[in-house]
Amino acid sequence: MVGWAIAVHGGAGVDPNLPTQRQEQAKQLLTRCLNLGISALRSNVSAIDVVELIVRELETDPIFNSGRGSALTEKGKVEMEASIMDSLGRRCGAVSGLTTVKNPVSLARLVMDKSPHSYLAFSGAEDFAKQMGVEREENEYFITEDNLGMLKIAQEANSIVFDYRIPTIGYESCGLGAESPLRMNGLPINFYSPETVGCVAVDSQGRCAAATSTGGLMNKKTGRIGDSPLIGAGTYACDVCGVSCTGEGEAIIRGTLAREVAAVMEYKGLGLQEAVDFVIKERLDDGKAGLIAVSKTGEVACGFNCVGMFRGFASEDGFMEVAIWE
Ligand code: ASP
Repeated sequence: MVGWAIAVHGGAGVDPNLPTQRQEQAKQLLTRCLNLGISALRSNVSAIDVVELIVRELETDPIFNSGRGSALTEKGKVEMEASIMDSLGRRCGAVSGLTTVKNPVSLARLVMDKSPHSYLAFSGAEDFAKQMGVEREENEYFITEDNLGMLKIAQEANSIVFDYRIPTIGYESCGLGAESPLRMNGLPINFYSPETVGCVAVDSQGRCAAATSTGGLMNKKTGRIGDSPLIGAGTYACDVCGVSCTGEGEAIIRGTLAREVAAVMEYKGLGLQEAVDFVIKERLDDGKAGLIAVSKTGEVACGFNCVGMFRGFASEDGFMEVAIWE
């Protein structure tokens, strides 16, 4: 028997001026999710069931960028994606391009459990959702006023919102150009950047699991696929650890970030936090992303190289923490 552990995230890259009330709301949701995960793990629910349960909870709440509250495409629609992986047999499932599925993570789980494949996308994924009888909603259900506002601003700037590139000095760093009047983070606007969600857990049998779910980037092209549904990039679990990433998908894909954490543990013999630090430093462009991880021996770890990351951790030894900033 090993100790169980759980980590949850609500995205990397946070507006440094995010109003306190908004910060508190996010922390409360993360705390509620952690408590849910803790009681499930204490009752011997398996890690794979725990990560699905928690990500469903985050998808259902519109605070973060997944399920209801997802970022919008250039056409003002949602195209959600998610993935899930179980260390047991290195089984995995992923979905992209969902427009009606209430809980994308559960469809990813069904791809893993009930289909001969590991990844279904767009109309094929929607057909599979109908076959499986999962709960579905009109696209409008997923769209929030905050996100419509964000999309408008992004389109006025003719920019995809890399909301985690927080301008700490000038606007250059958020890709909008130094002279841009647009200030996405902090700003004179009442719309806040939504963030991707993820959960990793190890149960007392030492089984690791990871799940990630997102609407992707605001004003993304129709058909764009990010890191979150890509096993090895945004999500990974094996018999050494479970990892979920968040940030600029294109950078995470280039770095195969989630798998790299497992690889340096396996091949370099690094401990969990050391492996996370190594990967963030050596495999990720500066300012782009973050990740959470658990090891099979019940440790939790986190790393990010952008401003802030919504995150929470708990382990069997009584440790529990919810944080946003460094
Ligand atoms: N990684 C996500 C994507 O690129 C976005 C995020 O984590 O906020 O789709």
